[in-house]
Amino acid sequence: MITLVIIAAVVAAVLAVVAVKVSIDSKNAGATTDFPKELNVQTMIIKQSDFTYDGEKLGEIQNVVVHYTANPGSSAVANRNYFNSLADGHGVSASAHFIIGLDGEIIQCVPLDCVSWANGKMESNRHSITIECCHPDDSGKFNEKTLSSLRALVGWLCEKYSLTSDDVIRHYDVTGKDCPRYFVAHPDEWQAFKDSVNPLTSQGK
Ligand SMILES: [Zn+2]
Repeated sequence: MITLVIIAAVVAAVLAVVAVKVSIDSKNAGATTDFPKELNVQTMIIKQSDFTYDGEKLGEIQNVVVHYTANPGSSAVANRNYFNSLADGHGVSASAHFIIGLDGEIIQCVPLDCVSWANGKMESNRHSITIECCHPDDSGKFNEKTLSSLRALVGWLCEKYSLTSDDVIRHYDVTGKDCPRYFVAHPDEWQAFKDSVNPLTSQGK
């Protein structure tokens, strides 16, 4: 009888440990899966490494930073795979939380609670969600599908992190880099884009 009680206690203890483990895993997964259905985010997290993102946790989010890939005609998944390949160590360190493709597809590359390496300044990276956008040609102008997804994603991020359109900035605003090129050359259109960003309502949450 005592043996049975001991066995039962051991089984209960093991089950408790498993339950805690499962709940921790689902908590981590939660950081990447609470997107509204409308955004159609595909989560394809890249390898964590000294060249992609090292797992450092983000501080308070102060900005959403918009970039362009500077690789005309390339797809979102190709850019995601490029980031992933950097983990093998090619002397380049780079990543971004999201890449938006030419068909408006959104790929998540870095967990939302981790620092990405996109803005060229660690102090900025530590307080930013970063978005790379694909573009058809060298002008860097985003097509309507990319722009539409960018608007929706930025709107959702502004709501999630209690940001205003003033907190949505270009890579150019961080370091002066010519990125995203078209919106650096056309500040009036950049302002118009920011004005068009309306946080999504609670629909789909
Ligand atoms: Zn950039």
